[in-house]
Amino acid sequence: MQETEIKPDRHTKEKTKVGNYFVSNYPPFSFWKEDDIPCVESMLNSPTPGTEPLGIYYHVPFCRKRCHFCYFRVYTDKNSKDVRRYLSATMKELKQYADAPYFKDRKPKFVYFGGGTPSYLSAQQLAELTDQMKAIIPWDEAEEVTFECEPGTLTEKKLEAIKNFGVTRLSLGVENFDDHILETNGRAHRSEKVYTAYELARKIGFENINIDLIAGMLEETDENWSECIDRTLELEPDCVTIYQMEVPFNTTIYKNMKEAGRLSAPVADWPQKRQWVTEAFSRLEEAGYSITSTCTAVKNPETTKFVYRDRLWSGADMIALGVASFGHLGGIHYQNLTHFDQYCEAMENSTPVIRRALMTTEEERFIREFILQWKLGKVNREYFEKKFDVDLEERYGKLFQNWKEMGDLIKDGDEYGLSRDALLRVDSKLHDLFLPQHQDSRYV
Ligand code: SF4
Repeated sequence: MQETEIKPDRHTKEKTKVGNYFVSNYPPFSFWKEDDIPCVESMLNSPTPGTEPLGIYYHVPFCRKRCHFCYFRVYTDKNSKDVRRYLSATMKELKQYADAPYFKDRKPKFVYFGGGTPSYLSAQQLAELTDQMKAIIPWDEAEEVTFECEPGTLTEKKLEAIKNFGVTRLSLGVENFDDHILETNGRAHRSEKVYTAYELARKIGFENINIDLIAGMLEETDENWSECIDRTLELEPDCVTIYQMEVPFNTTIYKNMKEAGRLSAPVADWPQKRQWVTEAFSRLEEAGYSITSTCTAVKNPETTKFVYRDRLWSGADMIALGVASFGHLGGIHYQNLTHFDQYCEAMENSTPVIRRALMTTEEERFIREFILQWKLGKVNREYFEKKFDVDLEERYGKLFQNWKEMGDLIKDGDEYGLSRDALLRVDSKLHDLFLPQHQDSRYV
């Protein structure tokens, strides 16, 4: 097994404190504002950019149970009437986009069903929903359709329905294989359901199955984590995604911490979590997997792609559907209203559904792609020169030298890569690349 030195990370201060640690977009959400909402409207009325890549993100905000580490906008108390109301609101939203001049003659290259729990919907609801979506904007050019599942919600009938409407990438939220840990962390499923769902998904013929794991859940141990890796290797998924546990404000874990007057979360510290991911990556590599980002290992990188991530991280347009959903159109970020009733009412009454937006500058768009692509472990000088007319060496030469001296950066021709240790703490390094006005923002 390859030895990786786990270095300290100056931003995390090592203990797991409350807050969002991972960088998922840029500029930080706290800079998005109501004033920029009209920019989205004008973009929608502007001429179509033709072949520019386009995707659709569909947010399903329902879950069987709220996990203690969850900070998403999810609902565990909605009945079938509420679900029907939501589905028709989202279809009205999609129709509005389809009618906009900006989307004339454009079809999605990727579709992503995220949550919440998309697999919370019944087979019939899913079939009806996706038939309607395709009738509004056909998916026949989609290179990938991803669908997130909670293993305990899957049946053979539902998996067949999911396959039938065109899902090419099935993502299973396994998180851990130990029932006690799953229970302690508030997960709705148990490990038995993982095996049943996985076996059925293979039998039905899904070719790209991803398994999500979390390193550092409440009560995780060295021994249990090694077992989680054993179980994962036995299943031989096409892709494994490993998140390091973060504890944002809007979580049950934080609520309990606050009540107990604790400053740090009762989960492993950051070096321990990086150690666990390092162990998992090394064992996956020994089994023939390739590490393709800060959190993913892929069995066959030639055939197993992640189009949603790669397109999004290279600036593709993405329509956001549903409550609290995030989208990106022509360089404008936006987010929908964040409460169920507010969102549904806005669609029903044909009033604005966007809560905040940000018209980015060319420089911010460059930085956004630059930081997101670092999460893949490498960036290419020629790509940024061609697309943004920015010479990375000229702009960041000093910083790169510094990263090199720390042993974090490896340069190979036009390509700049990160050491394994630096890749696992890349999110904290990315703050160095933010514009000065965004540097202090921890919520990104
Ligand atoms: S299943 Fe996912 S979205 Fe639902 S509560 Fe758990 S972490 Fe949140």
